Amino acid sequence: MRAKNNIAIIGAGVAGLAFALLAARQGHSVHIFERRQLGKQMGAGVTLWPNATFVLEAMGLLAQIRTAACQPHWLRRFSPQGDNIGQLSVTELDKLIGYPSLTILRRDLMGILVGALAKTSVKITDNHAIDADRLAVLSQQYDLVIGADGRMHSMARQYVAPTARAVYQGFVNVIGISQYPSATLNQPDIVDFCGNAQRFGIVPVSNNQCYWAAAWPTPLDCQDALNIQQSGLAKRFAHWPQTVRSILNFAQPDSIKPIFVHDIEPLTLWHRDNVLLLGDAAHASLPTSGQGACQALEDAWILAELLQNSPGTATLFNNFQSRRQSKTTEIQRMGRQLAQALFSPGSKPEQKPVSVAHSPARMAAFYMAGLVTNPVTARQTDE
Ligand SMILES: Cc1cc2nc3c(=O)[nH]c(=O)nc-3n(C[C@H](O)[C@H](O)[C@H](O)COP(=O)(O)OP(=O)(O)OC[C@H]3O[C@@H](n4cnc5c(N)ncnc54)[C@H](O)[C@@H]3O)c2cc1C
Repeated sequence: MRAKNNIAIIGAGVAGLAFALLAARQGHSVHIFERRQLGKQMGAGVTLWPNATFVLEAMGLLAQIRTAACQPHWLRRFSPQGDNIGQLSVTELDKLIGYPSLTILRRDLMGILVGALAKTSVKITDNHAIDADRLAVLSQQYDLVIGADGRMHSMARQYVAPTARAVYQGFVNVIGISQYPSATLNQPDIVDFCGNAQRFGIVPVSNNQCYWAAAWPTPLDCQDALNIQQSGLAKRFAHWPQTVRSILNFAQPDSIKPIFVHDIEPLTLWHRDNVLLLGDAAHASLPTSGQGACQALEDAWILAELLQNSPGTATLFNNFQSRRQSKTTEIQRMGRQLAQALFSPGSKPEQKPVSVAHSPARMAAFYMAGLVTNPVTARQTDE
């Protein structure tokens, strides 16, 4: 590739911002186009597993992330009656990999990425949606166009794979944030209550704040779920353990939001001409995979690494797809498998505690697969 490319990025989500930062640091000229106001993305929080914190450390951002995040010791799964039906030692996983698992509000993660970008020459045009005509123009004007425009209506995906569509997987996630007295939860652990085709997951991000997600099967855009508020959730989970009821009691009403959950079928090709898909645009998985933002960060890291060494656009895009595709396809599959176990009628997740049944050693090997350990050359701090 040329030492200095003109790069357009569509979408200022996790993938777009992370790649912009890395490419700008390599001396490329980068312009991001975002349809919303910068930093105003949807979502409550994310769990950054050690593959993500490996990337964030290599980007020089981990120390800052730590100050806004919580480090869970365990992921524990319970039945709606409160019986323990599975657990994963997050501490052991972190120790095996050498990087922490961190839980953080999405607005804090985005704020840190946007703050780091402010110290670069990256140009950002927000409140500016790219449509098909504008995409065609960008592809003429820039050396590379990176489609990091997310899972639902990616314009870049429409250009690369015109028949691909986001697929509704039959359940809603109602997300929210709660702020509570510090003794409300005993530990900074992730707790996941599931049974009777319903789920309520709680993820602390500090000693008095958590994000959470309630989920159950429902037709797409069903009015009951669309209009649900705190009182409706309290009713739905009225007979679930006290922890669930307390967290709902302390929910911030304006944080409550239903998401009808879609993923995409794995794509055969991630690029066309000089347009490449990144993050959810290329391989959106269900939230049950717990890996979407982590994979977006891996994408950004690996694409930036390949950009330094590839002789041309075609090689760069082919190398990127072949480095990333099998891992992201497996994550899409795992997301669907857990969703099926949790939400299909008559499901009994207590008999199939998928994914927490995996040992920390197996998870460590999978999470770190494909990540090249050369943080020394790429690392630059933001001080
Ligand atoms: C309920 C829920 C919980 C989740 N929890 C986790 C978790 O714990 N851990 C984890 O790793 N992942 C999690 N994920 C997944 C994660 O949020 C996504 O995979 C991740 O945000 C993908 O990043 P992205 O940059 O590819 O896409 P996005 O973050 O969706 O960003 C895409 C950006 O493109 C912009 N855009 C779209 N179209 C256009 C256009 N035409 N023109 C300009 N801009 C455009 C959008 O406004 C957006 O800012 C969760 C997802 C959900 C729904």
